[in-house]
Amino acid sequence: MFNFLFRLKRQQLANKRRFVLPQILNLSAINRSIKVIYFYKNESKIKIEYDKNEIRLYGNISDHKLVKITLDKFLKQLAKEHFTPILEQAAKELGVSFNRLSIRGQKTRWGSCSSKGNINLNFKLLFVSPEQMNYVIYHELVHLLHFNHSKLFWNTLANYIPDAKKIAYQMRRIRLDSLY
Ligand SMILES: [Zn+2]
Repeated sequence: MFNFLFRLKRQQLANKRRFVLPQILNLSAINRSIKVIYFYKNESKIKIEYDKNEIRLYGNISDHKLVKITLDKFLKQLAKEHFTPILEQAAKELGVSFNRLSIRGQKTRWGSCSSKGNINLNFKLLFVSPEQMNYVIYHELVHLLHFNHSKLFWNTLANYIPDAKKIAYQMRRIRLDSLY
């Protein structure tokens, strides 16, 4: 019984990795740093204001979970804005067309591509280098030509991203939940 409780407790701690309010969001992929300023207000919600290099959060900022949800939502919109033209340009270059781009926040995946041509990209790609972001975008689009990870897939990808294998290795070692 004691052992069970102990394990349960440890599990809960692992699930509840404390979210530290970020003071700055270093969005290397789009070469931008955004300052985050918090204003506590006795309200249940959080309102967000954004201009170019600064975001201001007003509201119940003591609710860190709510802050995280608010920031995630903001970053997803920003990611969609920035990734869409890059994806479109890359698709043109590859001579493929995708159906729809969705921005997600998965804990273990940078991106995916469905057989229907829907591309999913993780908004946390904002935090990696431009080369790493590009790699994921091309990787997913090349799946529209080769729906597997065959030799042909990697050879095609290498035409556009010569360091693809090296970057793939780097990406596997980044913990997505430690990025901000
Ligand atoms: Zn893949």
